[in-house]
Amino acid sequence: MMKTDVVVIGAGAVGCAIARELSKYDVDVIVVDKRDDVGGDASKSNSAIIHTGYDAAPGTLESQLVVAANPMYDQLTKELDIPFKRIGAVLPAFTDEQFEQLPAIKEKAFKNHVYDVEYLSKEEILAKEPELNPEVKGGLYIPRESLIDPFILVQALAENANENGVDFMLNTEVTGINVENGAIKSVETTSGTIETTYVVNAAALHCDDIAAMVGKADYKVVARRGQFYILDKNTSCKVQTIVLPIPTKITKGKLMCPTIHGNMLVGPTAEDLDDKVDTSVTTEGLNSIYADVSKMIPNVNLRDTITQYSGLRPNRNPEGLHVDVYDDLAGYVNLSGVRSTGLTLCVAMGKYVVEKLKEIGMNVSLKDDFKATRKGIPIFHEMSREEQENIIKEDPLYGTIVCRCETITEGEIMRAIHRPLGARTVDAVKRRVRAGMGRCQGGFCGPKVIEILARELNVPTEQINKNLDGSYMVVGKNK
Ligand SMILES: Cc1cc2nc3c(=O)[nH]c(=O)nc-3n(C[C@H](O)[C@H](O)[C@H](O)COP(=O)(O)OP(=O)(O)OC[C@H]3O[C@@H](n4cnc5c(N)ncnc54)[C@H](O)[C@@H]3O)c2cc1C
Repeated sequence: MMKTDVVVIGAGAVGCAIARELSKYDVDVIVVDKRDDVGGDASKSNSAIIHTGYDAAPGTLESQLVVAANPMYDQLTKELDIPFKRIGAVLPAFTDEQFEQLPAIKEKAFKNHVYDVEYLSKEEILAKEPELNPEVKGGLYIPRESLIDPFILVQALAENANENGVDFMLNTEVTGINVENGAIKSVETTSGTIETTYVVNAAALHCDDIAAMVGKADYKVVARRGQFYILDKNTSCKVQTIVLPIPTKITKGKLMCPTIHGNMLVGPTAEDLDDKVDTSVTTEGLNSIYADVSKMIPNVNLRDTITQYSGLRPNRNPEGLHVDVYDDLAGYVNLSGVRSTGLTLCVAMGKYVVEKLKEIGMNVSLKDDFKATRKGIPIFHEMSREEQENIIKEDPLYGTIVCRCETITEGEIMRAIHRPLGARTVDAVKRRVRAGMGRCQGGFCGPKVIEILARELNVPTEQINKNLDGSYMVVGKNK
């Protein structure tokens, strides 16, 4: 039987941030995830914004964690080499009713200790964001709303945790939790039983299923789907900031912003579903995005769409973000309701959960050999001519372009496969180095990526998955 001190269930942003925080201490940790890769479900299909918390419900745990997390990203993204940009957001008001809401939004921001929100006049907001509907009456500026690469964020947290001793068991589903004398004893998984003293449930959409395994499911998770368009980098209408609508009670609304890599992101919807798996996009959902966003940005050009996707927010019923520990169940920490801001708050949540674990008895001390930094894969198209020549001399595979849209080399793909927790599927390569993220969406480089994966993993091309086990892209040879 495998043995550890802490099992973290879920290798999304939250599970990986908790794992990285735990890796600073002398404690054995295993992260278990049923997926083929670190990166989670919601954590790889969101708006990729590091929020300030200006619009959170004041005084809540969510507000505290988001507000605390935002400033941590300056140092964290440097330490872990994660693409991050403090681009800022505007919140334009187009009607008298919206304009009258601005003071209340600013006041709420103030209650959340987000003090740097400023009013913008009509002229000021149009100067920042010339594509706004000229009917705009004015708005707010929220300077620290920021962009991140959500895939690299989770990979970096996981890789750094792994380098500092955390084990990851992927393709491994948690199927049961054994409790003995009111305390956690072990975790049953599809890869065997793990004896452990502590369990942290960071299973997001499925955290209620995990909680039910220990009799603590006093809530349900309802998937709230968000659909998006991604537009080509050369689209005719671009925004310079994150353009946020005035939020409603249900959702932050549909926005338009650049991605950290220069595409335009438009969406998301907010639809409560009956199941937890439906990540399809629908005509109705996509049309509603155009209807709402074109009111703010009339020239938004959806004919420049290169792909659409959707993600599922793990919405809790009853609502609210909770981190629960129990007097009658030693060793168990249950996270629920990490819904719309989990990408942001994950790093503060990591610290919060470690303190909770200490509170419930985890006796640990800081390691003196924790390595805080991690280096990403060198990106060929961001290098100077001289750097490109040098890296090709060092590694000739950097001289072969595989993805023409994004200018990604075979050298980068090789590193994506061979680094710790390396890519095993076509989508995992895509999330690490962006091969297939461009306007042809892998039409050209996809077969080449399959070939490289098969060669490097020493398996037939027919066994290379797009993502989940069995999602083969090549069915056999025709000659
Ligand atoms: C449309 C949309 C837009 C969003 N925009 C933003 C944004 O701009 N900024 C922001 O901060 N947040 C945003 N969010 C919220 C954010 O994405 C989530 O709060 C966050 O990703 C949750 O992270 P997580 O690690 O808890 O969950 P996940 O990423 O869902 O990870 C949970 C993991 O648990 C695993 N798991 C589940 N059950 C089991 C089991 N039985 N055994 C093993 N593993 C299991 C899953 O496989 C998964 O990998 C958005 C979300 C959506 C959907």
